[in-house]
Amino acid sequence: MIIVKVFDGYRISSPYGWRVDPFRGGREFHAGIDLVKADQAPIHAFMEGSVLFAGMGRAGTGLGGYGNVVVIKDKNGRAHLYAHLSRTAVTKGAIVKKGQTIGWQGATGRVTGSHLHYEIRKKTTPKYGWTVNQGLSTMDPTAYLQSYVLKPRPKKRQKLILPSLSSSWRVYPTNKKPVKGNETGFLNPKKFGGLQYDIIGNPQKDVYTIQTKDFGEVNIYAAPSTGAKIK
Ligand SMILES: [Zn+2]
Repeated sequence: MIIVKVFDGYRISSPYGWRVDPFRGGREFHAGIDLVKADQAPIHAFMEGSVLFAGMGRAGTGLGGYGNVVVIKDKNGRAHLYAHLSRTAVTKGAIVKKGQTIGWQGATGRVTGSHLHYEIRKKTTPKYGWTVNQGLSTMDPTAYLQSYVLKPRPKKRQKLILPSLSSSWRVYPTNKKPVKGNETGFLNPKKFGGLQYDIIGNPQKDVYTIQTKDFGEVNIYAAPSTGAKIK
């Protein structure tokens, strides 16, 4: 099998599988992989999908102990859990692209330090796919992502087109609500006869993440009523 580096930029602090329980000692099954970048570092989605849950995982829901967690359902019906985040960057129902920021590394929930616990569950219901036998209900994230990455798939990126009618189009930091007052700057489509960007993410309805020259990665509100077009 060809090895593909699927966790580039991370240090693996604890792999998937049987290990010594860091709290009580003794053997336990580690249902995910522990990855460390840096405390508060942005965490990007390893695979695209739709957000089923984003927030504090409560006991009894299948997410207890996971702290601030984002659950993303992929096209194969698997649940991807990004756990112990300091904050989440997406909301339930959002469509997330691969590479999109979904939160920031933290130490919420049952942890001994700041890290990302990344877990893949075979099912999304009930309890977001949680079962007592985690060895059966989860998958090795490294193997799963490698098989996914190796599959050839067409690269198609949607474009956001801003018409030339506006000379000041607000853009927002990706970690703030896209509402007036939070803007980090303005784009000037009029000056350039319109502007065009690759869409990196779609954190909520009519809000798109784009890469700009002047402001870096930002969110922009572009409902059809604004005259913006998605192509
Ligand atoms: Zn873990």
